[in-house]
Amino acid sequence: MEENGARDVVIIGTGPAGLTAAIYTGRANLSPLVVDGGQPGGQLMITSEIENYPGFPEGIRGPEMMGRFREQAARFGAEFAHGNVAEVDLSRSPFCVCLEDGKEILTQTLIIATGANAKWLGLPSEEKYRGRGVSACATCDAFFFKDSEVFVVGGGDTAMEEALFLTRFASKITVVHRREEFRASRIMSLRVEKNRKISLELNRVVDEILGDKQKVTGIRLKNVKTGELSEYPCDGVFVAIGHAPNSKIFEGQLDIDEYGYIETAKASTETSVQGVFACGDVQDYTYRQAVTAAGSGCMAALDAERYLESVR
Ligand code: NDP
Repeated sequence: MEENGARDVVIIGTGPAGLTAAIYTGRANLSPLVVDGGQPGGQLMITSEIENYPGFPEGIRGPEMMGRFREQAARFGAEFAHGNVAEVDLSRSPFCVCLEDGKEILTQTLIIATGANAKWLGLPSEEKYRGRGVSACATCDAFFFKDSEVFVVGGGDTAMEEALFLTRFASKITVVHRREEFRASRIMSLRVEKNRKISLELNRVVDEILGDKQKVTGIRLKNVKTGELSEYPCDGVFVAIGHAPNSKIFEGQLDIDEYGYIETAKASTETSVQGVFACGDVQDYTYRQAVTAAGSGCMAALDAERYLESVR
């Protein structure tokens, strides 16, 4: 803690990126304060079994894994503050982080690990069957759909990528898109169109995801031109209509790209403001994995540590 009451490090976000940053800055004796945010534990709290995080050969459930990350951070002296950040002032150092309950925290460095959220269609059935056939991440969940029939919703590069990835597991993939033309790059669309395992349902939107209360059993599509409804049996629905990074409170203060991702320097977590670092899904639309988020959380901690040494 500085004489002016400022902390060395404040971390916003408690997904794999934020908590890894907390473990590293904690072990470096920087007594990090970690602000939970609206969804403590991040996106892994709503995923099914995690089978691809190294070190867990049997797999591990998301909430248990995040509980372990948190315990490890606490062991090295991380403190936790609950609640959302209402606003930040990055115009001068120490930076000010203002919580929704009015509490203001001053800090020499700020690590932003606020993550991103998959966009959802907004159907109640989609929420009901999330983790039981409905997913927003093929890399995470495709493995559970071996020899199954699945639908992928969306017409951008993410949808194309998810559909192509699913061809390794599922027996049949149908891409549903609300228009005639894909938004995705030509090369990705062509790969999808040429793949014999993939069929297309264009000019269609999802009217309902059908299930037997336990899991997904089918999907009802609506033709946007004729209004006609048609039902298809399936085992899974992958919603791939984009991601929304949680960067709103930093707008106007940090460089943010046209999709809302915080811009960081190449091979670093430095943002456009010295002393402010960003890691995990809020700055990464390419990989979006727990292990890459954790890796970038480690990078942010080391970057913050070096920055603090340089200004002292
Ligand atoms: P995009 O915003 O590019 O595409 C979203 C798609 O979902 C669009 O086709 C859109 O339809 C559709 N959509 C949006 N909302 C709804 C809705 N409510 N109901 C039905 N359909 C909906 O997001 P992506 O995640 O695909 O891509 C984001 C960025 O990341 C892009 O720049 C992309 O190129 C990049 N990316 C690159 C990859 C690569 O190069 N390998 C892989 C993945 C992403 P419509 O077209 O009608 O608006």
